[in-house]
Amino acid sequence: MQCQLSAHDDAEHYGLLSDAGPYGTALWLRWSGSTEAGPATLPDCPVASSGRDPEGCCLFAGHPERHTWQDAREEVAYTD
Ligand SMILES: [Zn+2]
Ligand SMILES: [Zn+2]
Repeated sequence: MQCQLSAHDDAEHYGLLSDAGPYGTALWLRWSGSTEAGPATLPDCPVASSGRDPEGCCLFAGHPERHTWQDAREEVAYTD
């Protein structure tokens, strides 16, 4: 299981287990350091990018660090 968050100092890591749950939620595996991992159902992050073709975030509501679409945009910017 890999952490889905972008580089962060937070001690908690999150890996996506399944997004097949109730609409607007996903099942995440949460762990930190040597602590045992535990599943958590979290609501989807509601923040989408602005612009003509908004992109949704693949993380959960209230996650630390950047939204997934912010990472994608920066990659595009770097190769420009
Ligand atoms: Zn992490
Ligand atoms: Zn987000």
